[in-house]
Amino acid sequence: MPDDSMRVLLVDDDAFAREVIADILHGQGFEVVTAGDGVEAMKHIEAQADRLGLVISDLNMPNMNGLELVSNIRELGILIPIMMLTSNDEMEVVKQAIALGADDYLIKDEHIDHTIGFSVTKVIERYELVRLNQLMLEEIRQKNEQLENLNGQLELATQTDPLTGLNNRRFVSQNILYDIALVHRRYHDAKPPGSDSENSDMLFMMVDIDHFKQVNDTYGHAAGDQVLIQFSGILRDSCRNSDIIVRWGGEEFLVICRNSSLKYGRTIAERIRSNAESHEFKVGNGITIHKTCSLGFSCFPLAISEPDQFSWEHVIDLADQALYAAKKTQRNCWVSLTVSDKDIAYFVRQIDQFSAPQWLETGHLNMETSLEPEQALTWK
Ligand SMILES: [Mg+2]
Repeated sequence: MPDDSMRVLLVDDDAFAREVIADILHGQGFEVVTAGDGVEAMKHIEAQADRLGLVISDLNMPNMNGLELVSNIRELGILIPIMMLTSNDEMEVVKQAIALGADDYLIKDEHIDHTIGFSVTKVIERYELVRLNQLMLEEIRQKNEQLENLNGQLELATQTDPLTGLNNRRFVSQNILYDIALVHRRYHDAKPPGSDSENSDMLFMMVDIDHFKQVNDTYGHAAGDQVLIQFSGILRDSCRNSDIIVRWGGEEFLVICRNSSLKYGRTIAERIRSNAESHEFKVGNGITIHKTCSLGFSCFPLAISEPDQFSWEHVIDLADQALYAAKKTQRNCWVSLTVSDKDIAYFVRQIDQFSAPQWLETGHLNMETSLEPEQALTWK
């Protein structure tokens, strides 16, 4: 049985037909509003779309015919079932109406008073299911979208250091292989190994704040956090946008420079060192302190003639040893370690057998530093 809200909009330019069909619908318990053409019908629909349960429309009408009415309703995205009123010789037009978005049709003949109630109820019920289905699909789509957003935020959060907003180690392990692959491709596809290597390498630079523990011990951990945050700012200001800056752990940072060269490494290491040295760190309570940092870096690929022989972890290990020497020797300085082209095959086989100072002695490693030339590096 139709419920209270089941109001039908009946559209027909034939006043007699309109009256007959409205009477039948009334008799079956439907509330009926009528319109003489599509234009009048649209006025009803726009004014009370949410109160209408169904539109029944004639095809041939002046001003706006049935086809135009269907396409107007659908273009506005109004979710309301539409039935076409038709005679038996208009089936081609009915097909067009259904293609435009009508849901069913009623044949105007002598049986209409028997069929109309059942047909109308069926269309309304079926449409209600479609409508609920669409609402559910929309709800699922929105929920999926929210979930994707949350996943994105979560992913970002798990790859970000919460104190400094820099990337963390997880970011590196999840993203570095793509950049490494690009370097490999440049070496293998774009040019023969060992030719002009300007800006085709990746630099891995370890940066460590000197005597950081003293800040925590003297001024407290909140002051230590301030130094870390401001130091992150120094790194951001000193690097290019394309460089990846990572809080590696504690007061240790990693800067990865894409499309770089050793020359850029020297420039940026010196820039970071000197910017840190001249920065006034505000640690709260009006206190300003000075800090310095030490840096060690190396280059990927390690060996230009053998770009596949060493992983990026090898490069980090070498950068780490360079940093260690910088700290042990003086602090507030940088050291770089790179592989020379001497007897690469031997170096490849034995790399893990010896440490950096031994390889320097054999001439398999090259070292550069901001220290005075006469200053010997301390390794232990
Ligand atoms: Mg007509």
